[in-house]
Amino acid sequence: MEPSARTELFDVVIVGGGLAGLTQGIALASHGMSVAIIDREDPARVLRAGFDGRVSAIALASQRMLEAIGLWRHVREAQPMWDIRVSDGDSLLFLHYDHRDLGDAPFGYMVENRIMRQAQQDALAELPGAQLIAPMTVAKVDRGLPGSGAPAQLTLADGRQLRARLVIGADGRQSAMREQAGIRTTTWSYDQTGIVCTVAHELPHEGAAQERFLPAGPFAILPMTDDENGVHRSSLVWTEPTERAATIMGLDDADFQAEMRRRFGDGYGEAHVVGPRWSYPLTFLHAERYTDHRLALIGDAAHGIHPIAGQGLNLGLRDIAALTEALVEARRLGLDPGQADVLERYARWRRTDTLVLSAVTDGLTRLFSNDIAPLRIARDLGLGVVERLPPLKKLFMRHAMGDLGTLPRLLRGERL
Ligand SMILES: Cc1cc2nc3c(=O)[nH]c(=O)nc-3n(C[C@H](O)[C@H](O)[C@H](O)COP(=O)(O)OP(=O)(O)OC[C@H]3O[C@@H](n4cnc5c(N)ncnc54)[C@H](O)[C@@H]3O)c2cc1C
Repeated sequence: MEPSARTELFDVVIVGGGLAGLTQGIALASHGMSVAIIDREDPARVLRAGFDGRVSAIALASQRMLEAIGLWRHVREAQPMWDIRVSDGDSLLFLHYDHRDLGDAPFGYMVENRIMRQAQQDALAELPGAQLIAPMTVAKVDRGLPGSGAPAQLTLADGRQLRARLVIGADGRQSAMREQAGIRTTTWSYDQTGIVCTVAHELPHEGAAQERFLPAGPFAILPMTDDENGVHRSSLVWTEPTERAATIMGLDDADFQAEMRRRFGDGYGEAHVVGPRWSYPLTFLHAERYTDHRLALIGDAAHGIHPIAGQGLNLGLRDIAALTEALVEARRLGLDPGQADVLERYARWRRTDTLVLSAVTDGLTRLFSNDIAPLRIARDLGLGVVERLPPLKKLFMRHAMGDLGTLPRLLRGERL
């Protein structure tokens, strides 16, 4: 079938309806833009308990945006993060961020990815301007030539044709949209794997997130909401060298539990693993450009970082805030949302933030994932210095909240 003027025309077609793609769709549709989101996964499957066991730290600024676009009110459960404690192995020097040093607000919220996906589907269902087309893939994209003014043409796997003024690539680290545009990436593997599981424990976590730097890699204990029976729970992101992680993942329940217990410590009383375990190979990725003709990349399609600081999705949410502002303002001025200068504004806004955070998380991963004595001394001194210098500590705390730099309006909680 030849595309024709009768083929449905959207302001934006988003390829990839993961956590970033769906949020982007909601942000645009809640500001009156017409959006189609295409994802290869079945929407019912992504809500199942076994699909994704991760719990994401949503920084305060990101949460303000989710509130402003009408998504947050659909999030059924969220655990406020009141404290963050960072320690290096069994060193006595540690860093303690207490939200009270900055005010009343928490650093952010821990939300199960499964609950966020459900909230996204519920929010989308209320937005007439947005459609989720899934499970579906894109067979062909023709973004045309710069200067022609013609919209992009997308052919879906079932033969359906869509036209869009802008295509957003939110299709993750293996992004086909990025590849099709010939955008190169810088990529490397950390030779580390993140093991994720839920631990039920006797004593309450009091909303504290713990990051322990062990020689094998960071071991994070992240507070979750209590379960329906009032059982206290935390999510583990337990990093190990890839080979060792494979061995640990292969252990039977009793041995896995024993390995977990050796690292978890006694601070939470009796503790045991509940439910399945997941593992994620950890890699770094940065796209050389975030835009091309009628194309913008967001989320992991543009940049993938180590989960050491729980910032990967937050970076994607900051992309969404900046891109939504650029697109909504362009439309108000009667501009084509896919035109080069609109996309350039987005790319310029995001580049420094993503590059700096990518470099910092990469540096931290390398600095802390070892037991080399001089490095251990240097990093322990570093933690001690930050702990004792209130202005520096406050700067880091604001960073954890996502509250630094020139924030797009959505991250300040304002509608556009
Ligand atoms: C262990 C771990 C813990 C983490 N913890 C945190 C945290 O606490 N806080 C935080 O901010 N970040 C965290 N992150 C990072 C965060 O999970 C990711 O940055 C985020 O999920 C990326 O979302 P995305 O939508 O950009 O990409 P993805 O989740 O990869 O989604 C891409 C989507 O595109 C779809 N897709 C792909 N190809 C196609 C195609 N050809 N056609 C149609 N659809 C397609 C896929 O089905 C998928 O739905 C963590 C990561 C890991 C590994």
